[in-house]
Amino acid sequence: MGAQQVAERFAELYGTQPEGVWAAPGRVNLIGEHTDYNDGFVMPFALPHETVAAVSRRDDGVLRLHSADIEGGVVALSLHALEPGSDENWTAYPAGVAWALREAGHGVTGADIHLASTVPTGAGLSSSAALEVVIALALNHLYELGLPGWKLARLCQRAENIYVGAPTGIMDQTASACCEPGHALFLDTRDLSQQQIPFDLAAEGLRLLVVDTRVKHAHSGGEYGKRRAGCEKGAALLGVDALRDIPYPELDAALARLGDEEEVRRLVRHVVTEDERVERVVGLLRAGETRRIGPVLTEGHVSLRDDFRISCPELDLVVDTALSAGALGARMTGGGFGGSAIVLTEATDVDTLTKAVEEAFAAAGFTAPRVFEAVPSAGARRVG
Ligand code: ADP
Ligand code: MG
Repeated sequence: MGAQQVAERFAELYGTQPEGVWAAPGRVNLIGEHTDYNDGFVMPFALPHETVAAVSRRDDGVLRLHSADIEGGVVALSLHALEPGSDENWTAYPAGVAWALREAGHGVTGADIHLASTVPTGAGLSSSAALEVVIALALNHLYELGLPGWKLARLCQRAENIYVGAPTGIMDQTASACCEPGHALFLDTRDLSQQQIPFDLAAEGLRLLVVDTRVKHAHSGGEYGKRRAGCEKGAALLGVDALRDIPYPELDAALARLGDEEEVRRLVRHVVTEDERVERVVGLLRAGETRRIGPVLTEGHVSLRDDFRISCPELDLVVDTALSAGALGARMTGGGFGGSAIVLTEATDVDTLTKAVEEAFAAAGFTAPRVFEAVPSAGARRVG
């Protein structure tokens, strides 16, 4: 998506040039799934797919919004009338960001916005965070708020949690705001401390494929809330603030203390082992042992499928087929119940693997998946 093209469309819609153009990417989570609301570890990296927004300030309290990806014209909202939970359309995401900034005391007085995105929506690649972060960054620059990336991420999360009403963790927004090219972001969701971990697949003759199953997940749906509530119950039963506080070596003892709470036990086991997998992947990448993260990714899938129980037949088929066809590792990524899986493979096996997955989907009668290569890319930035 060219900055130029988005700026030109802005000029057509609003009759003036935009003050600037910004971009924010979607993300893939390499490892660390459903750990972010348990104060744990995650490790996303940014996709080359991004949302690009051309933006100008206004001083009359009006927010005008237009998306190239949604049918319909410009939507005009009054900043003073913004009310959490009042908007069921896509406009809730950018309006929520303006609302969160104003709630935090920042003097945002209006904006004209046109945006376009190459992030697939509802595919577990976080088009919602890309949309929030690009607006937050644009307003941060234009209104000279001086907020660092992690703070913008927090405000975007607040917009999504409270204004849109989707109970998501902090990972997606932080990834979109803070990732760097050629790196994965090792993020501690408790204190938001972050480390850029070199993750240059091409240099090692490796590729990471994303397989979008085309099964739409429903994030704000009940299953996500149930898992989250189950994790909170586990932490309460074990007398800790969050499941992050159960050290991996003490997992068996903790599970034993959960008595007949079988479902909570499975959720706790996933979260505690998943945090340990993130730490193992960080160690392997730091040691330059990228190929050896493959089996850890696959372990993560098994845990999400059997303990957390948020996979689906399409995601399992991607993983099983890829592994049978020689992948180094594979797992579902994102919230679950659809969305995308990732496959780590030798560069030389990409075509064979892609074909194997496409054939398996056809044979099972599933909608054809969308397969693409994920290159660790830049986080949010000004592009025009
Ligand atoms: P995901 O973040 O996994 O893609 P979500 O359901 O969290 O899925 O967010 C998708 C929603 O975000 C869309 O339904 C739409 O409301 C909004 N959205 C994302 N990208 C755009 C866009 N380019 N234009 C308009 N709305 C968008
Ligand atoms: Mg989302």
